[in-house]
Parts: sequence; C-alpha cells; structure tokens
Amino acid sequence: MGAFADCQDARNMKTIMEITCPKCHEEDGIEIILKDGATVGESICAQCGYVIPEGTHPEQA
Ligand SMILES: [Zn+2]
Repeated sequence: MGAFADCQDARNMKTIMEITCPKCHEEDGIEIILKDGATVGESICAQCGYVIPEGTHPEQA
C-alpha cells in the first residue's frame, strides 16, 4: 500500500494525533486535529468527555 498520503493538501496541512487526556489520563484517549500547531474543532475524550477547545496548542502545557 503506497498511496497513504494521497489525501494530503500541502496548502492546508492537518495533522491527526492522539494525546493522553489531561483529566482522566486515558492514554491516547483524545484524538486531535492540528493545523499550524493548534487544534481544529473541539476534541473530546472518548473516556470521560473532557473537551479540548479549538485553538489549543498542545505543546504549551
Ligand atoms: Zn478523559
């Protein structure tokens, strides 16, 4: 399978990653979409419902 990156648009690059929930500490419990280092849309923990609002920079703890 070599076509994994076909849907990426270089002008509008988004990164999807999973992070540990800061509330319930569920590992990879929250899937976030990053654009220019900030979250896009609300990201909700699958375990506890904790919401990370749009525009959060996960590198800034
Ligand atoms: Zn949680």
